[in-house]
Amino acid sequence: MGQKKDGETITELVENTEGNAEPAETIAPDSYEAFVKKVRELDKTIKFPNMNEWARDAYFKVIGERLETYGPLEIPKEKVIFTKDPNISGHLLITESGIVINDILPNGIHIVGHNGNPEASFGVIRLPINMGEFGNKERVSLAHELSHCIDPNYVGLALWRGESYEKIKSLDIPNEDKVDMACDVNTAHMLIETGAWNNARLIAELLGVPESAFEDTMTISLRTHHLLELQRLKKTLKGLDVREDLPLFVFDPVAQEETCIDYKDFLKATSDIDKRIERSIQEAKQRTYLITED
Ligand SMILES: [Zn+2]
Repeated sequence: MGQKKDGETITELVENTEGNAEPAETIAPDSYEAFVKKVRELDKTIKFPNMNEWARDAYFKVIGERLETYGPLEIPKEKVIFTKDPNISGHLLITESGIVINDILPNGIHIVGHNGNPEASFGVIRLPINMGEFGNKERVSLAHELSHCIDPNYVGLALWRGESYEKIKSLDIPNEDKVDMACDVNTAHMLIETGAWNNARLIAELLGVPESAFEDTMTISLRTHHLLELQRLKKTLKGLDVREDLPLFVFDPVAQEETCIDYKDFLKATSDIDKRIERSIQEAKQRTYLITED
């Protein structure tokens, strides 16, 4: 990504940018260098925000080939260092052994360290600056947020997301149309999430996350997200005078499509939603993943 000066090794880069960083003992194996080279070759054709399906698939092809030939990247569980990237308003994420995580991201996607939960928007991945070790939790976070950035549908769906539940309530349209609109927003939000998780699987595999850890994290995170979305939908519909048998089309994360439910049954099904969210968040905290809003 142009962060290295000619002739400067990754070890020197870590020392030069961090000052007191330990010299890297383990330089990534040759297969890692070859992988980075292949990713960088994509730069001519792939550049955010022109991330379309073709570009995403080209990136995934390089990852797939790497996995087939050498297996996952050998990244030890170790501390990661956020270093100001001199070229952009972002950070370099460097492991103690000198692997620059930015090198394996498609061109134009930036990492920014911050003090909140992991999140992504329009080519910027925000990760907790105090993340400590680069274990399964952190790798899944990175995979998930990167996956948002390379989702060709994200921009459209994120714009849809701007049609917030709150805004719908204040529109001057019939209540039944408000219900339809709110259900569409619910579906758009869940499509963003399920899409990101589906694509994150391959990236997590590349980063050496065991499949069971990934599946476990995805399941609990999607469930919590789903419950939070239902809670928002319920709040939006509250107070709207609509008939009890009005059909709602609500996203089902297991089937990954909308299912039809009567308004009356929806209210029944979400009567204890607050408790279920609380339980789900507690369970997620005990597991491996931070719940993210994005
Ligand atoms: Zn997400």
